[in-house]
Amino acid sequence: MKMTSREYQRCNRCVMDTTDPNIIFDENGICNHCTEWFDVWETRIDKRPIEKVISEIKQNSPSRYDAIVGISGGIDSGMVAYLAKKHDLNVLLLHVDDGWNTNEAKHNVKTIVEKTGFDFEHVHVDEEEFGDITLSYFKAGVQGLEAVTDHLIVATLHEVMDKYGIKTILSGGNWATEGIMPLAWVYTQHDDKNIRSIHKKFGTIPLKNTKFLGILTKTWRLTRGGIKSYRLLNHINYNREESIKKLVEEWGWADYGRKHQENIYTRFVEAYIFPRRFGFDFRLAYYSPLICSGQKTREEILELLKEPPFTDEEIAREKQLFLKGMKITEEQFEEFMEMPIRSHDEFATHSRDQRIIGFMRKILRR
Ligand SMILES: [Zn+2]
Repeated sequence: MKMTSREYQRCNRCVMDTTDPNIIFDENGICNHCTEWFDVWETRIDKRPIEKVISEIKQNSPSRYDAIVGISGGIDSGMVAYLAKKHDLNVLLLHVDDGWNTNEAKHNVKTIVEKTGFDFEHVHVDEEEFGDITLSYFKAGVQGLEAVTDHLIVATLHEVMDKYGIKTILSGGNWATEGIMPLAWVYTQHDDKNIRSIHKKFGTIPLKNTKFLGILTKTWRLTRGGIKSYRLLNHINYNREESIKKLVEEWGWADYGRKHQENIYTRFVEAYIFPRRFGFDFRLAYYSPLICSGQKTREEILELLKEPPFTDEEIAREKQLFLKGMKITEEQFEEFMEMPIRSHDEFATHSRDQRIIGFMRKILRR
């Protein structure tokens, strides 16, 4: 049988396209991603007024802290800290430092701490172990190059919560600027088993200090364990650009540009490795919700997409930073870029139990 490649198609409402192999279009050329975005927004997102949510949080705080806020130096978590301060919550700020912060991120973390006056924990991951796990992902040839960082941040957050008896998480997650991400483009950060398995095969040093959070433990904590996670940005009319403007004016925030560009590793993976090695432009998933939530028009976004994610000069500069951070040579990097792509399922994984992962996504989406 002759294989024919799928004809290219882009959604008529958002900008998702057939670089997501699983995308489905209806008879009007509207895709499943934005259709689901609107469906979830209208039926499943908790949009109660923020004041109600704040008073609920205050009533349920057994610790001296009403909640914990993980700050990355990015705008979403920065805005959550801003709202916590404005609404007079007493939160503990946490920054999990993986060693890849840009100067803007460092500046913003410092700014949030100074401007809010909240207590602050700065946790450094074990950079040697973290580097060894990250490198093992490249050696394995898998795609989920962001899963490790995300997992370690959340595992650390839960550990710090226990240290202070904190029961509430204020997350920067939100539906207005997120909510579209093809499953084919990412690998779930909840799968601790997969991380350990990939590292076991390709890692070179034992993991002694790295924090993991098992998926069953995490599910238990967020349900019967009494840990609550709130997405404050769903309870305001969250607009990214306006929020950046506000924090620039009021706090002296450093605008680092596009989403997730506050981390050197993440921005190189998303802007260079994903398009070149895996054939998709991550910006489609970041921009599409902005169209759905009315923050940008489709035309504005199509205009932005005409520019490549990085200019040639940026690629040259960022690649050097990346190689230095990964402690690899250009030749090794090229080898990783050209090797066959391997599925995460070739390693031990929780993903065969889709029910748990699906359930986790659901409880975290609220
Ligand atoms: Zn669409």
